[in-house]
Amino acid sequence: MPDGGCLTGTGSLDLAVFTRVMARAGADRSRPLCHTLGLSPEALGALLRRYPMLAPMVPPGGPGADAGPDTPEEPDLRALLLDHANQTEPLPETGWLAAIVARACQGSHHLWQDLGLAHRGQLSALIDRHFVPLAQANHRDMKWKKFFYRCLCEREGISFCPSPQCDACPDHRNCFGAEV
Ligand code: SF4
Repeated sequence: MPDGGCLTGTGSLDLAVFTRVMARAGADRSRPLCHTLGLSPEALGALLRRYPMLAPMVPPGGPGADAGPDTPEEPDLRALLLDHANQTEPLPETGWLAAIVARACQGSHHLWQDLGLAHRGQLSALIDRHFVPLAQANHRDMKWKKFFYRCLCEREGISFCPSPQCDACPDHRNCFGAEV
């Protein structure tokens, strides 16, 4: 497993995330690495130039020729994340993570699991580093995938919620329960 070398602070935390994401994606032999990540080969190349210690994690067959097809909601998820990216100090990591998170939202497990992260807290921390307004808006700690889709519904002015209030909702546990 690559170590953080001389990286400190945010870079070190992001490296820990990318290391786990790459390991999870590389283990998925059902599709090319770029398809699992949702990154173009060019974007992955830029990521690997910034974190060269991750390069050995690319499978021997290469990363694939493209990012693979988007699902219908993926562009909206990326836009949601990027519209709430930290503006004071734009980082390339933020763009890569927006694409990676949007693609992982298409998985069938909890988002932190489909990303390959160690626990939900690691996902919350990356949102807090790169997408502060979303972290602040989710102050009640709704499950992240549920929260993102609720945000998309709000943007479209629609709702599939069975209740106008989360506290009175029969699905409360699905949206706020433990993710294990
Ligand atoms: S708890 Fe109910 S009202 Fe709140 S987001 Fe979930 S489904 Fe919607």
